[in-house]
Amino acid sequence: MESYYRYMNEAKEKQITLSFLAEYDGPCPHCGFHLKYPQADTCSECGRSLKLALHKRFSCSSWLLFMFGIIATIGVCIDQAGLFFAASFYRGAPLMWKWILPELILIALLIGTLIVWWKLKAWAMELRSPIKACIGIVGILMPIFWFNVLYLLFVITF
Ligand SMILES: [Zn+2]
Repeated sequence: MESYYRYMNEAKEKQITLSFLAEYDGPCPHCGFHLKYPQADTCSECGRSLKLALHKRFSCSSWLLFMFGIIATIGVCIDQAGLFFAASFYRGAPLMWKWILPELILIALLIGTLIVWWKLKAWAMELRSPIKACIGIVGILMPIFWFNVLYLLFVITF
């Protein structure tokens, strides 16, 4: 949206918005009030400003799915580590670092991966479709995979 407006000065932007609104018959994007050919670039009901803009259509990219996988896996680790802390707190037992440590190490690794993956967005968007599909699937399965690895580790060391 910002990049579009870089190409127009403020007066031009307002003029284009007003000419669009002069033929607009629909709801206010802020309050939903029905606007019929408004003469100003503010909503007559809620008073908020109206602007014509170009939007990039939302698309669920493989980059986003992988990002989801990292964040969801961090969530899984925090949840499990939290349960180990809570169990120790409520039962007065010592902290079981052999179970908590793997969770904390994985959280640290995932935060690092998150930062790297964020910076790789432009690169990931240019990959070939089959590779993108694989990245997307890995992203979706990542929380399930790590949950089972950690659970297995817990069962083995119980
Ligand atoms: Zn409004």
